[in-house]
Amino acid sequence: MNLIILGAPGSGKGTSATVLREKYNLAHISTGDLFRYNLKENTPLGIEAKAYMDKGALVPDDVTIRMVEDRLNQPDCEKGYILDGFPRNIAQAEALDKILASKGAKIDAVVYVICDDEVIMDRVTTRRVCEKCGASFNVKYMPTKVEGVCDVCGGKVYQRSDDNAETVAKRLDTYRENTKPLIDFYNARGIIVEGNNNVDSDTCIASIEAGLKALSL
Ligand code: AMP
Repeated sequence: MNLIILGAPGSGKGTSATVLREKYNLAHISTGDLFRYNLKENTPLGIEAKAYMDKGALVPDDVTIRMVEDRLNQPDCEKGYILDGFPRNIAQAEALDKILASKGAKIDAVVYVICDDEVIMDRVTTRRVCEKCGASFNVKYMPTKVEGVCDVCGGKVYQRSDDNAETVAKRLDTYRENTKPLIDFYNARGIIVEGNNNVDSDTCIASIEAGLKALSL
């Protein structure tokens, strides 16, 4: 099964993606994580991406699409995958269609995580993530058992430099302008499955799972 997960930055899509990855045994492809990995390793790709990430803007499509295409060619993607943070605009969605068509593959469902801006702002500015496995925590709502240490893998937990109020506001603007139109793009194919993450992630996941079942997935 090949999935895309869509939602505003901080909507909880990363957490939902982690649950779906475990449940359906999928490779989890997060373009944000791939960029952050490159940044940490100081690769040319990471250095190029940093300027855009710090502004809350999108990294240019050609760079992003090439990175995703390489990732989709890795053997672990054969079992199915969940694309998290990609595509982020119509041009990327069309490029993805072409890549998949050349492999005789397709996207089976697009998971849309709904969340209000005020909830997002509160959650993102208190979010912490593991630099090793990408697991997400929250100092207010889901603190790690030991401060600064990931409950899942023992890695170091930190606050992303773009998780501040100013950059989050810009990322929400970028999302509304570029990514929201993807809902219509995939709705036309009848493959959108919704979860509402305003209250808690269990309810959100339950409705996503019901939606996937309704699509016979
Ligand atoms: P995320 O972790 O998904 O919130 O992504 C963090 C940042 O990485 C974004 O604000 C963008 O600068 C960049 N990024 C991630 N995915 C993409 C993408 N599909 N296209 C362009 N830029 C991206």
